Amino acid sequence: MKTAVFGAGVAGLSAAIELIDRGYDVEIYEKRKILGGKVSVWKDNDGDSIESGLHIVFGGYEQLQAYLDRVGAGSNYTWKDHALIYAEPDGKQSMFRKAALPSPWAEVVGGMQADFLTMWDKLSLIKGLYPALAGNEEYFRSQDHMTYSEWHRLKGASEHSLQKLWRAIALAMNFIEPNVISARPMLTIFKYFGTDYAATKFAFFRENPGQSMIEPMRQYIQNKGGRIFVDARLSRFDLNANGSVEKAVLSDGHTVEADAYISALPVHSLKKILPREWLVHDYFANLFQFTGSPVANCQLWFDKKITDTDNLMFSQGTIFATFADVSITCPGDFQQGLGTANGGSVMSMVLAPAHHLMDMPNEVITSLVMKDIHDRFPKSRNARLLKSTIVKIPQSVYKAVPDVDKFRPDQISPVGNFYLAGDYTYQRYLASMEGAALSGKAVAEKLHARKGS
Ligand SMILES: Cc1cc2nc3c(=O)[nH]c(=O)nc-3n(C[C@H](O)[C@H](O)[C@H](O)COP(=O)(O)OP(=O)(O)OC[C@H]3O[C@@H](n4cnc5c(N)ncnc54)[C@H](O)[C@@H]3O)c2cc1C
Repeated sequence: MKTAVFGAGVAGLSAAIELIDRGYDVEIYEKRKILGGKVSVWKDNDGDSIESGLHIVFGGYEQLQAYLDRVGAGSNYTWKDHALIYAEPDGKQSMFRKAALPSPWAEVVGGMQADFLTMWDKLSLIKGLYPALAGNEEYFRSQDHMTYSEWHRLKGASEHSLQKLWRAIALAMNFIEPNVISARPMLTIFKYFGTDYAATKFAFFRENPGQSMIEPMRQYIQNKGGRIFVDARLSRFDLNANGSVEKAVLSDGHTVEADAYISALPVHSLKKILPREWLVHDYFANLFQFTGSPVANCQLWFDKKITDTDNLMFSQGTIFATFADVSITCPGDFQQGLGTANGGSVMSMVLAPAHHLMDMPNEVITSLVMKDIHDRFPKSRNARLLKSTIVKIPQSVYKAVPDVDKFRPDQISPVGNFYLAGDYTYQRYLASMEGAALSGKAVAEKLHARKGS
């Protein structure tokens, strides 16, 4: 059975891996020259790796880790110290470190020791967040009508902890503020954070996500006979009389015929090419409820080390939300002799919220980033900036705002030979690499089951 997959992000590649391992004939069509979608990394003219965004593997990413093992990349990422590190003004750091106890005591005792929360923050958090720790999927779904800030205040948790702790988490997860993000994904995260000791560990790719994950996935698929076409943009579907897909048409006029068609496009790209005939189905019409979160990633090369932290960092009140010195966290890339790097720090920083940055000139953004870097990393005041790059993604992951979760589509569509994969489709994670991997597995399993029936 021939399956055509459109989009070579983590979702499309995961679907291809599952299908190939079940004996399907798989072709992937990707509009760009590089694979990986939002995880893609490319070399610029200086030989530097430019990341679409800084990417972290969480301990709870079971499916993604299973794929990394399957494609022979299980040792391509390394776990860091189990701590949430906040960069504070003038080089200080505050920490939330889990205690060496079973959950939830690891989190409760660790939280009580966190130096950046007041005693009132701690007590109000334990009391206020209990419903999240005790809640199940059904409860989380029932809270999707309000923002996280509303939920937090309703439960009597402190304002200071909202700004200090959870704002950074909302920005890291979905690049939007806690008064914009739905309570649902935040509560899901608390549940993981508070009940599964290992779920919140962070790992970094040894080189970068492109080399350490996407490249092994590509090799696995091609070695098993899968065919990957780049520069191959899907432009429309031609339909049979019964509304099923007759063929896919690429923007260069090439046509693709298959027994099953999987869209692993981001939802905003899919909306542009959906046949109008399909909009009679709520399943497809509901896709127009999703909008993408703008985000930007800034990389800075310095001539000296400005930090010695080998981990992900968060900060509050800065233009960057999450960041790392990848010359330390990723020992296989960003090292002296590779491109611009000369042994100094290479900061990779996710800038969020970023709606106001999309039309801002890169020089202005860089100067704002440098102002905050000088504030948080005093050693940078005596370091020379060798190079800076900015990647803007106006529509990245879907915005997890209230009342949108219910529109996340199943992987099986009402059209007999058409399927969806992608981080926005329904699975238990928010938009993430794990969500994309889960959607790839689900689409392959459901397609296989439908074929069998
Ligand atoms: C800055 C940033 C930081 C992030 N950090 C993390 C992190 O630390 N941890 C984490 O788990 N997640 C993180 N994410 C989220 C994660 O990257 C995404 O959730 C995930 O990669 C989405 O995968 P996907 O396959 O669903 O979609 P995508 O990666 O968007 O892949 C879709 C693919 O479809 C292609 N395409 C689009 N239109 C067409 C067309 N017409 N024809 C053919 N192909 C087309 C695209 O080029 C792309 O390759 C981050 C995202 C960003 C932007």
